[in-house]
Amino acid sequence: MIDVLVVAGGRGRRFGGKKQWFPLKGKPVAAYSLELFDRHPLVSSIYLGAPEEDRKIAEEVLSRHAPSKGRGVYVGGKERCDTVERGLSLVSAPFVAVHDAVRPFFSPEMLDELYRALLGSEAAGAVPAVALHDTVKEVYDNIVVRTLDREKLRAVQTPQLFKTEELVRAYRMVRDRRGLTDDASFVEAVGGKVVVVEGDSKNRKITRAEDLEWALCRLSSLRVGLGYDIHRVRPGDGMKLGGVWIPADISLEGHSDADVLLHAVVDALLGAAGLGDIGELFPDTDERFRGADSIMFVRKAMALVRETGFEVVSLDTVVVAQRPRLSPYKAAIKRSLSELLGTEAVGVKAKTREGLDAVGRGEAVEAFATVLLR
Ligand code: MG
Repeated sequence: MIDVLVVAGGRGRRFGGKKQWFPLKGKPVAAYSLELFDRHPLVSSIYLGAPEEDRKIAEEVLSRHAPSKGRGVYVGGKERCDTVERGLSLVSAPFVAVHDAVRPFFSPEMLDELYRALLGSEAAGAVPAVALHDTVKEVYDNIVVRTLDREKLRAVQTPQLFKTEELVRAYRMVRDRRGLTDDASFVEAVGGKVVVVEGDSKNRKITRAEDLEWALCRLSSLRVGLGYDIHRVRPGDGMKLGGVWIPADISLEGHSDADVLLHAVVDALLGAAGLGDIGELFPDTDERFRGADSIMFVRKAMALVRETGFEVVSLDTVVVAQRPRLSPYKAAIKRSLSELLGTEAVGVKAKTREGLDAVGRGEAVEAFATVLLR
């Protein structure tokens, strides 16, 4: 069985923030690999090494994303290798995997392969590696010293798997740690054998802002939602549409404030995120929602959408009303919807029914909405 050390010691020097905690579709970068390890049948315990100032967030992330195998957060050292070394004192399994928290997309099968490569082998460690596609040159002071033989070179990733006693021994023996940028190099430095298995180009390290962009694209999918609502008209002093009060000699009937447009928007949001509809969330049999401000429904729907990791790209709407005349209010409605949904890409169109049907006779007002989520 395998104990895992996930190293989250990065201080974001190349990034302008701590990339291991950066939110990626609703969860921190580090959460992705923790979840993969937590579900992996070969893994028995997971330890997360983080700087003292990150202890709280690290504990939250570990308990949430490695609920069954997360054993604890420990405080790392100054350099990555110090953090690994401290973590080794916690490990009790015969094998230890060391993984960078900023590689969210390693494949679980790769861990199986690393394990197979070590099991019953004389090697001390196994690492995933990929071939290089660019020509690689050794450079000194901006001058090429020589061109290296690309065929012989590999770019090495994590997780790296070791026989625990071999890695502990290597860390104990190596004195000069300069230039040792991964754990396998410690084993190599004391003469241990490290085998290579095929890595994965998707197992990319999130180091720069463009890596984060790439990760986001990889995870991205689009969802579209459609919402519709209709409310009866009665004599009154005005109506709310899109959260904006519109004075008139009519009002809309409804259990809440009867904002027909916001109801359509809520249904579009919930539909896109696969979260049901407004009637399920805010039933009109519930006294709590009598006369309720529908802005509250939108806020709640937005919070639920954000929990799924999606964000609103755009909203388009149509209100169909024979009266009142809505064009003077379109700009205010657009501003209100923009603010509620957190996007500038909002459309508001007002139509009449050309005198046809119940809406055309002024007996009801209806609204349509489509939402695009990413
Ligand atoms: Mg309604």
